[in-house]
Amino acid sequence: MRDEAEISVPDCIFCKIHRGELPATVVNRAEGLLAIEDINPKADVHLLVIPERHIETFRDIGELSADEGKHMLDFVADTARTAGLDEYRLMVFCGAGAGQTVFHLHWHVLGGTLLGLPA
Ligand code: AMP
Ligand code: ZN
Repeated sequence: MRDEAEISVPDCIFCKIHRGELPATVVNRAEGLLAIEDINPKADVHLLVIPERHIETFRDIGELSADEGKHMLDFVADTARTAGLDEYRLMVFCGAGAGQTVFHLHWHVLGGTLLGLPA
């Protein structure tokens, strides 16, 4: 587990959104978690679930406790439900070669027609 000082990274876009330093359209929030609209949507509904704790990739998911992991997954489901989605896709790109561009763990929640795979 990282210590408190490493939870937030100064130059990370998603850490900045969590700190309120970058604007975002927030659609859901819970302790340590935010859901926002993707700035460049690739589906009719394209949301991003972003934990506050800075974890670079899904590969490092072990940095979350079991409770934190369950809390995050419940929040993903709650975000989809709150957005009115019953059927949807979840995606996590792990590593640059797999299309990850922001190195702070996030879940894509994609509803409706896909306009192309998130890049
Ligand atoms: P990934 O390719 O999985 O790393 O996804 C990063 C996602 O973050 C992309 O779909 C981007 O469109 C989105 N994104 C990047 N910057 C912002 C931002 N400031 N606000 C909302 N979404 C963003
Ligand atoms: Zn970050």
